[in-house]
Amino acid sequence: MARILLVEDEPKMQRGLRDNLEFEGHKVTVQGDGSSGLQTLLHESFDLVILDVMLPQMSGFDVVRKLREKGNRTPILMLTAKGEEIDKVLGLELGADDYVTKPFSLRELIARVNALLRRAVPPGAADTMMTLGNITVNFASYRRYCTA
Ligand code: CA
Repeated sequence: MARILLVEDEPKMQRGLRDNLEFEGHKVTVQGDGSSGLQTLLHESFDLVILDVMLPQMSGFDVVRKLREKGNRTPILMLTAKGEEIDKVLGLELGADDYVTKPFSLRELIARVNALLRRAVPPGAADTMMTLGNITVNFASYRRYCTA
């Protein structure tokens, strides 16, 4: 079971995603705007965030930027708009881990969620990590994270 925060303002999308993620055995918290999403992330810990780009009050891009600025490395899967190549690029540059483009199939989304959760650093691995400049190395997994 993973704790997932879903930040999405469309009720239909909220319901569909939450139902499917809960069916997969995850615990899902939903927020409907960017600033509530950011506040929730800064006060609770999650294994993964599913973040829409177009949100009221604060865009998904701003949420990613602010979160990473504060050193929070929760994996982020962004929901981008169809045909907006710039969305994907900007999202990834700001520190998102992956994205799916709307409209997406639920199977694809679930597959990407599961892939990100498998890749995530397990709890307790933090003491095996070392940061040099903008590169963090995880000696347990020999994975390198570049945070530039
Ligand atoms: Ca939206």
